Amino acid sequence: MASERKFDVILFDLEGTLVDFQWRLNDAVQEILQVLVSAGIDPALYGQSPGYAGLYNNTRDITGGWKTADSNSLFDQLAAVYERYDRDALSRWAPYPDTVDILTRLSDCRYRMGVVSNCGAHASETVLEKFGLAGHFEIVLSRNDVEYLKPRPESLKLAIKKLCAPADRTLFVGDSLNDILAADRVPIASCFLSGGESLVTGEYADIATFQISSLSMLPDILIR
Ligand SMILES: [Mg+2]
Repeated sequence: MASERKFDVILFDLEGTLVDFQWRLNDAVQEILQVLVSAGIDPALYGQSPGYAGLYNNTRDITGGWKTADSNSLFDQLAAVYERYDRDALSRWAPYPDTVDILTRLSDCRYRMGVVSNCGAHASETVLEKFGLAGHFEIVLSRNDVEYLKPRPESLKLAIKKLCAPADRTLFVGDSLNDILAADRVPIASCFLSGGESLVTGEYADIATFQISSLSMLPDILIR
């Protein structure tokens, strides 16, 4: 794995990629919509079947012209909802059976690694510490580090900047269409891991550079 590598930096999504998918998507979306409607926003602005990331990102745009105190107040309310669903997922999250082994192998081969998640900082850092994964990562970026969530590319761009990583030597591994779209918008190479969020949403990211069905397949695409 060391001599003919295609990438030097591997960024991972967290939920559904390193740990299993536990966020209660539908319940969260309903609760987020209630907060937005209470704030006077027309839910039709979010389209027919909005997801948690689209609700968050579109609210950034919608509130762009609001008074700062009003938009901050709304985002404080939203943060409370997202964090409650993070904590709920945290209570059930567990790494995939091959997560520890793969991260150990990649660390041994001196790949530089980071986590770029739409989840909050507390849940992300807690689960990585809880299962002994944190030491593999130079950087852990969460919802708390950015204004816009994936599929916007902001968090991936920030990770690349913080790591001084060459974009053409960086791979992003994720389990949702949002992950693959975000990578495409940087642009960096992407690897779609099926069986995480896609099991819940039915979305399939066939625009990914690579596709795998388990993390154990990752070493195969890292060498020429
Ligand atoms: Mg995910």
